[in-house]
Amino acid sequence: MVATDIRNDVDEILPGVVADRRHLHANPELAFEEHETAKFVAERLRALGVEEIKTGVGQTGVTGLIRGGKGKGKVALLRADMDALPILEENDVDYRSTVDGRMHACGHDAHTAMLLGSTRLLMDLRDQFAGTVKVLFQPSEEVPPGGAKAMIEDGALENPHVDAVFGLHVAAELPAGQIGVKSGAASAGSDRFRIIVKGKGGHAARPHAAIDPVVVCAHIVTAFQTLVSRETDPMQAAVVTVGSIVAGDAFNVIPDTAEIKGTIRTLDPDVRARMEQRLPELARGIASAMRAEANVQFIKGYPGMVNDEAMTDMVRAAATAVVGANDVIESETGMGGEDFAYFLLERPGCFFRVGTRNDERNIVFGHHHPRFDVEEDGMAPGIATTVQTVLSYLGG
Ligand code: MN
Repeated sequence: MVATDIRNDVDEILPGVVADRRHLHANPELAFEEHETAKFVAERLRALGVEEIKTGVGQTGVTGLIRGGKGKGKVALLRADMDALPILEENDVDYRSTVDGRMHACGHDAHTAMLLGSTRLLMDLRDQFAGTVKVLFQPSEEVPPGGAKAMIEDGALENPHVDAVFGLHVAAELPAGQIGVKSGAASAGSDRFRIIVKGKGGHAARPHAAIDPVVVCAHIVTAFQTLVSRETDPMQAAVVTVGSIVAGDAFNVIPDTAEIKGTIRTLDPDVRARMEQRLPELARGIASAMRAEANVQFIKGYPGMVNDEAMTDMVRAAATAVVGANDVIESETGMGGEDFAYFLLERPGCFFRVGTRNDERNIVFGHHHPRFDVEEDGMAPGIATTVQTVLSYLGG
């Protein structure tokens, strides 16, 4: 099977994929509420003859198996997310959201439709590969702790044991027809912290009778600057930003407490783990040295996504066969969160970007914008790249 054949096959099924995407777009469901979407997906998989269809995995997730005709082999997982956002759609299209205040504004409708398309082609091409393809439709990508974690905890990476994981995201910044790949760190891990510094309020003119949490906050924020500059390997990237300090209300009163809020972005799991340990240590240690107390809340978001080099090479080669080298773009590391990271922590794999921008048709609005839309023709190279990747990985 050569890539041009796959492109032709995709072009044949694209109208069906577009129809599915529009149906999903018109009927958006929020995180962990994807009941009708899951039912729609399961029905499609059943009609295609996919085996061992499981629903209710990680609450509303769906999985199924496509067994290759060439015998035993490795297991590749393909993932799509299904959830929409609490946004009022402002697009005037005939597939506009039918639910006020709910919208597929991140393209997960396209992801689900594309994976159904890839499933259809891979069912037809079963005799061309060994092993198994596990297709996985995930709830709640938008709301941490997210559906990826829930599905993994529910055993989605076992029975059969998954060897490699692949996923994609449509990209508003990338023209339709292009594919973006990035080896290594593809997105940052993102965590948040809230610190309540408890001092002892008093009159501004009698500081010795009080414990001033404002001064303690200032020292804590200053000390945080050393988490990156003095404690992180200069070759590693990290950000510690204090976005909010709130304390007191008057010219002449020392307040009881002060609050610090901020975010940490990291690319490396070890750096992230060290931040989680050291930031509270610093805050508590400084507060206690200054007779105050720091109550630290560390709120974990999604970890960073790290694409496996060999798997990324395989996707890059597949994309090159599909769209040509000029339209395969080396992506930048994104700072947005993506819970496919959990799959990549467990198994080698690659998450790649599929261009769906079209300037002529004014499909230019960013993800989570009320006028976000996707150039549906861009879905074809995404499906073809997925199918080609599976054939490379399981084709032997
Ligand atoms: Mn998304």
